[in-house]
Amino acid sequence: MKTAIITGITGQDGAYLSGFLLNKNYRVIGIVRNASVVNAKNLKYLGVYDKIALIEANLLDLSNIIRILDKNKPDEFYNLAAQSSVSLSFEQPIGTLEFNIVSVANILEAIKIVNPKIKFYQASSSEMFGNVRKENLPVTENFVFHPVSPYGISKAAAHWIAVNYREAYGIFSACGILFNHESILRGNHFVTKKILNTAVKISMGEAEKLNLGNLKIYRDWGYAPKYIEAMWLMVQQESPKDYIICSGEAHSLEEFVQKVFEKLDLELEKFVTIDKNLYRPVDLEIIYGDNSEAKGKLGWNYDMSFEQLMNRLIEDEIQYVRLELQDVSTPPDVTLE
Ligand code: NAP
Repeated sequence: MKTAIITGITGQDGAYLSGFLLNKNYRVIGIVRNASVVNAKNLKYLGVYDKIALIEANLLDLSNIIRILDKNKPDEFYNLAAQSSVSLSFEQPIGTLEFNIVSVANILEAIKIVNPKIKFYQASSSEMFGNVRKENLPVTENFVFHPVSPYGISKAAAHWIAVNYREAYGIFSACGILFNHESILRGNHFVTKKILNTAVKISMGEAEKLNLGNLKIYRDWGYAPKYIEAMWLMVQQESPKDYIICSGEAHSLEEFVQKVFEKLDLELEKFVTIDKNLYRPVDLEIIYGDNSEAKGKLGWNYDMSFEQLMNRLIEDEIQYVRLELQDVSTPPDVTLE
């Protein structure tokens, strides 16, 4: 039985990855920042909370990570913990930079000291690329980074730390450069979740208005549970390499909102207001990636169209909101993919 440690286990990807690895018969250990106030909603929603072990750790404390690796002897280490919101990174730039960068250096240094054979996965992001000229799209693994937010900068620095430990010390360190991926477990502060959740509540008479910022941005959206498999595939390779994980298509946020309202049979103009205060200081206009390396070399199979993604997100959100409104304490039966 292999042992995997996951940081950020309480987040969207951490919860799905736990389920995925449990299905593959792994012993799963999650790192949380405070064991007495674990945000276990996602883990409970997927029915995995009782099947994993949780350890409290401060990822900014190298000695703490060394002790955890020494004691638990993991084969694989998935580093998903991060201040993951671009918007919040403009409010908390120093905190974002400090945590997202130093935690990665600490984990890799601990791996180097305790057991350089531990395979390491780093959650890199499309936000590292920043504003790419339209004529140069889609983004490939070889593009130069030019991040335009503290979050993007932190992820770019963390990415290069992961590459450096691979090149300098021969550690199996692989970075998944993931583009936006969504699900019912997406944090409430993300715009896609806000749109889905509020629109579904409006359709049930439980909300009245949806305030949004800039809708003229184009993103490459995918379905989170399917992106998890790519993380695992990267770690199973003979040698480490970084891969772009994306759908390969760009759609505007405007189209995203329109689809949600159309499918819920709601009049968009009646409920949606644009609030300039919600605009970011700088924003990416359009970005989408090229997933051919991941499909060709990893054998990652992503075939979900934007239409299928939207249908799935709306159906899942309706079920989620129904449970939320009933305040059901027992987790529903959800099939893990
Ligand atoms: P998420 O839902 O926001 O989860 C973030 C996780 O990090 C949570 O478990 C959170 O713990 C933990 N965390 C945040 N700040 C922390 C801190 N200071 N100390 C310890 N733990 C902390 O993110 P996600 O969507 O699952 O994304 C997973 C990773 O992929 C992140 O690194 C993110 O930046 C990256 N990524 C995500 C996307 C995407 O579209 N989702 C795209 C590219 C890259 P708490 O529960 O305690 O808050």
